[in-house]
Amino acid sequence: MRSSEPPANRPPSVDVLARSLAPTGLPHAVCVDIARDAIAAGDPASATQRALDFSRTLLMPVINATGVLLHTNLGRAPIAVAQPARPINVEFDLATGERGSRQTAVGQLYAKLCGAEAAMVVNNNAAAVMLVLAALAYDRGVVVSRGESVEIGGAFRVPEVMEQSGATLVDVGTTNRTRLSDYARAISRAGANVALAMKVHPSNFRVEGFVEDTSIAELATLSVPVVADIGSGLIDSNCPWLGGPPPAWLAGEPAARQSLEAGAALVTFSGDKLLGGPQAGIIVGRRDCVERCARHPLARALRPGGLVLAALQATALAYLDRSAASTIPFWRMVATPLAELEQRAIAICSTAGTGRPAAMQALPGAGSAPGVSMPSYGIIIDADRLVALRSWPTPIIARVREGRTYLDLRSVESGDDGAVAEALASPTAPG
Ligand SMILES: *Cc1c(COP(=O)(O)O)cnc(C)c1O
Repeated sequence: MRSSEPPANRPPSVDVLARSLAPTGLPHAVCVDIARDAIAAGDPASATQRALDFSRTLLMPVINATGVLLHTNLGRAPIAVAQPARPINVEFDLATGERGSRQTAVGQLYAKLCGAEAAMVVNNNAAAVMLVLAALAYDRGVVVSRGESVEIGGAFRVPEVMEQSGATLVDVGTTNRTRLSDYARAISRAGANVALAMKVHPSNFRVEGFVEDTSIAELATLSVPVVADIGSGLIDSNCPWLGGPPPAWLAGEPAARQSLEAGAALVTFSGDKLLGGPQAGIIVGRRDCVERCARHPLARALRPGGLVLAALQATALAYLDRSAASTIPFWRMVATPLAELEQRAIAICSTAGTGRPAAMQALPGAGSAPGVSMPSYGIIIDADRLVALRSWPTPIIARVREGRTYLDLRSVESGDDGAVAEALASPTAPG
């Protein structure tokens, strides 16, 4: 044997193997790590599969066929973001040429939208609640109903947020019933040490039966300002942007405008739930209260960047010009007529040559409007196809029940119907 020829079983060099992974499109430095791992595992031939597996850990667009419109695992509200690589006047006043506030543009739009004096935005609603409590109730008490001392999910627990903000939770009433007199008694007992009354929307569950809670209007008669964490971000319970009556499933969902009208000093909500925008937390209400939040040192740590501000501005403008039902993806999905979904389901099944159209129930998701659903239409396949559907270049996320795959079209953009039909036509994904 000539010494220059490697023996047949000698592993390839890391560099050669890494270079062979170039068609995956991954950066060379990542391919080198993958090649090294494959060789170390004694299985160089696994490198390509490892590279493909790595690619699937990256963020990418997916098709949401779960029927859960605001799917927390899929980034809640879908939004279109198109920004040229240009500077934007995030903190620059074009009128004076001087430094401005990043809260001005978006703040005035959300104040207008909600009928408030002022508004500001932070990174998410958890941050909004934290900032409000830190700015208005540090070292003081906040009265909260025991029925609203809740966990919203993802480690947002009212007592813990309260503790982190430096405010003291004063819980009143019982799990199922809390009356105005419970709040009033706690406030008079603690005297000037109570800074706020807080109302938290128990977004993700519902207590039924012998239940009583106290409305914002009643709380507004107390001697302290009322803060309402409505969570969901419904702007107006009349949904004027839909050009018709609000959908039945929204009944009982608190809205920013009505919470302020009822007397809340501040209302906080998420940007990426029923508002249909980017991840953000919005604080609206009395000017003096918003200004105290804006001046607090935490405001700097919680402020959003230009990308989010631009997306929030586009979302607010869509509501103000009443185009929300057609331009905000979440509301477009909500507003799609059932008959249209049925037609799409029929067309997809006929193109794919498989599956059967079926009526379904879609959910708003993200803890909004718990226990309610909206009529929908989709496709049932008599087999579990979840893995294959997820393997398509644009992964399709569906649900399985009792061995059958359900694809709900209310959460699918109609432009993706072709991709869905193609994926259904083939029991396995390409590649
Ligand atoms: C969702 C929700 C939160 C948390 O909001 P994020 O935007 O996810 O931080 C807080 N409070 C209520 C009532 C909620 O529904």
